[in-house]
Amino acid sequence: MAISHGIPLRGKSGSTEKIFCANCIHCKLVRDQRGSADQYYLRVRCAAGKWRKKLGEEKIYKYFTVARRSLDYCENYEPMGDAKDYIRELKKTLPIKDEVYSQASS
Ligand code: SF4
Repeated sequence: MAISHGIPLRGKSGSTEKIFCANCIHCKLVRDQRGSADQYYLRVRCAAGKWRKKLGEEKIYKYFTVARRSLDYCENYEPMGDAKDYIRELKKTLPIKDEVYSQASS
């Protein structure tokens, strides 16, 4: 997973097993501004445009669910490292629910 301006959170090559989107360069962490101007939620999106709703609209996911985004194959997958270790560490640090963040604390 990378932050919205494309800086990878980590790197290394992946395996041939299940693909985790969180380990892909196209998986971007973005802020979703809600309500008060200084508060936001964290969301993840696929910058390669692979996450779509039935009618074609882009689908974004809540950050705390990102470790669940997996595929058997994706033609646009660009691994940033060893997925197994990364996902294990990511699961330890992800929030357990959707959380509100504030500009002051970021
Ligand atoms: S390009 Fe494929 S593997 Fe990468 S984030 Fe998008 S859907 Fe996931």
